[in-house]
Amino acid sequence: MFANRAPSKSILAAMLIAASFTPALLSAQKASPVAPRRALVESVVREAYDKFKTDTNGKNADYIPYLAQADSKLFGIAIVTTDNQVLTLGDVNYSFSIQSISKVFTLALAMEELGPDKVFEKVGSEPTGRPFNSPLAVVDMPSHTGNPFVNAGAIATTSLISGKDANEKWNKILEFYSKAAGEKLKLIDEVYKSEAATNTGNKALSYLLAKYDRIYADPFESVDVYTKQCSVGVNAAQLARMGATLANNGINPATGEQVVKRENIPEILSTMVVAGLYDGSGGWAWHVGLPAKSGVGGGIVAIVPGKGAIAVFAPPLDEAGNSVKAQKVIDYVAERLNYNLFSPASVGLK
Ligand code: GLN
Repeated sequence: MFANRAPSKSILAAMLIAASFTPALLSAQKASPVAPRRALVESVVREAYDKFKTDTNGKNADYIPYLAQADSKLFGIAIVTTDNQVLTLGDVNYSFSIQSISKVFTLALAMEELGPDKVFEKVGSEPTGRPFNSPLAVVDMPSHTGNPFVNAGAIATTSLISGKDANEKWNKILEFYSKAAGEKLKLIDEVYKSEAATNTGNKALSYLLAKYDRIYADPFESVDVYTKQCSVGVNAAQLARMGATLANNGINPATGEQVVKRENIPEILSTMVVAGLYDGSGGWAWHVGLPAKSGVGGGIVAIVPGKGAIAVFAPPLDEAGNSVKAQKVIDYVAERLNYNLFSPASVGLK
């Protein structure tokens, strides 16, 4: 996302006022030649932070008790580029639950194991036009599963992960997420307990899927592994690095490890465009034009293929379950830095 240049006065000034900046430890890939200058990125991110910091729209998810009591003022932004430059601002050390953003990486793992065609056949990739936890979508959709990012499709995707028991599946998922983040990630036990005590809706979805033969392991066991994957803690920088791994053809820009198969990246990103923000996905594609995924914990990560990823964390959500501030920040930054993939300007065509 940032082109490498000798530090100018404006860069130094931006480094003082903004964001901590960590230079690349390991250049897994050179910065894109059409990437905007680093100082510009820093100033645009700072503007977005200042502009939306006091925005009080939206409200915390309240159907998971732990999330209801999170400080709704928490606000952090992180960008990680494909050459592992890191820009962070605000509450970036706070570990929040990844929630539905986990679905992207479980999809990636299922594709590693089964290949894209099998996953497409068993789950699909159609928007549901309904809330993420809708049982009506399971009944109505010809595939019943819809796509890997609504709860029903996500539980079905989790049920595809191989393992001799639930514990082995869960450990495999956690290890895969950790490789994408380049750091060992952990379960936030209180989130898991809070959600496991209240997830009757997801259990109902899993049984409905069983009625249609669209779940591929024990339904309740699959819900339990899914609930754990949603309760994994990440901070904004870890989440941005997970996104940057996708932006970088599946190679983690910090460790250089090929985590996700290169050939699976387009299907993963296109699914994020179709359904990453649930029934807000069409509006998001219209306004922002980036593959992204939200979670009810307040995180959103957006991928700028070949350049990097931006992750924003702020708990208050809109009606569809997407962080209000995170959407505004990413929209603001993407527009000013020509990130919209549907615009030829994103590849430098003036
Ligand atoms: N764990 C949450 C659930 O199952 C995930 C939903 C979300 O982030 N949209 O409801």
